[in-house]
Amino acid sequence: MDLVVTRDAVRTAVARAHRAGERIALVPTMGSLHEGHLSLIDRARERADRVAISIFVNPLQFGAGEDLDRYPRDLERDLALAEERGADLAFAPDEGEMYPSGPPLITVVPAPEMEGALCGATRPGHFRGVLTVVAKLFCLLSPAVAVFGQKDYQQSVLIRRMVDDLGFGVEIDVAPIVREADGLALSSRNVYLSPDEREKALSLARALSAAGALYASGERSGEVLRSALGSHLDASGVSIEYAEIVDPTTLTPVACVREGSVCAVAVRVGKTRLIDNIILHL
Ligand code: AMP
Repeated sequence: MDLVVTRDAVRTAVARAHRAGERIALVPTMGSLHEGHLSLIDRARERADRVAISIFVNPLQFGAGEDLDRYPRDLERDLALAEERGADLAFAPDEGEMYPSGPPLITVVPAPEMEGALCGATRPGHFRGVLTVVAKLFCLLSPAVAVFGQKDYQQSVLIRRMVDDLGFGVEIDVAPIVREADGLALSSRNVYLSPDEREKALSLARALSAAGALYASGERSGEVLRSALGSHLDASGVSIEYAEIVDPTTLTPVACVREGSVCAVAVRVGKTRLIDNIILHL
C-alpha cells in the first residue's frame, strides 16, 4: 500500500492509476479503524481496481466543545490494518495540507434544508464540514465509487444529494452497519465507554430492534414506534438526543411508517455521544 500525505502526491498517484485505466474506489474515514471501516474496504475492492482510503480527522465537522482534541488517533495501526485488508493507497494529510488557507474557509458546501434534521439539530455546522471535506476528497481523488456506512445514515443521504446537486459523477455505495456480537454498533467513540456505560449503550440496538419487531408485527404508527424507542432508551438511563422514525430521503418524521422508513437514535451515555439506526423492512 502506498502512503501519500500531500495533495500533489495524491494527485500523482491518482493520475497514474487513471493512465493505467484503473477505477478508484474511495473509503473516507477519520481513522481509528475498526471492523466497520474495514468492511467498507472489502466492498470497495469489489467495485473498483484500486482502493484508496483517506484518514483525516476533519476539524470542520467538530463543533465547539466536541471531542476533536481527544478523538482517538493511531496512524501506524490504521495503516497496518488498511494494508492488511487490501487497500492500495492511503491518503493521510495533516490539517495544513488539507486546508492550506483555513479554517475558516471561504468556500464550503452547506445543505441547509436537511442540516437541521436529526444530528443537525444538535451539531450545527457538522454536515457542512462533512460535505466540504468529502467534496474536497472527491476533487483530489476522482473516485469512480465512494463507500460510506449506513451507521451515519444522515451523512449518506446528504452525500448522495451533494453528488446529484453538484454533478460529481461518483457512485455512492452505502454499506450495512457492522455490530459487536451483542448488537452494539462499532464506533471509534466506543473506546470512551466505561464498562457500565457500554452496558447502557446496548439500549440503542435493543430499542431499534424493538421498533423493528413492532413494524414486523404490523404496527404502522410512527407515534407508537417513536414511543417504543423512547421508553427502551429511557429505561436504560441514557440521555436521548432524538429517537425518530423518518422518511429515508427527506429525513422528516413520518406519521405512517412504511417499507424503508428509518428508525434513528442519538443518545449521550455519560460524555459520549452515540448514534445508531435501522431501515425498516419486512
Ligand atoms: P468515521 O471514521 O467515523 O468518519 O467513519 C468513516 C466511515 O465508516 C463512514 O462512512 C461511517 O459511516 C463508516 N462506519 C463507521 N462505523 C461503522 C460501522 N459500525 N459499520 C459500517 N460502517 C461504519
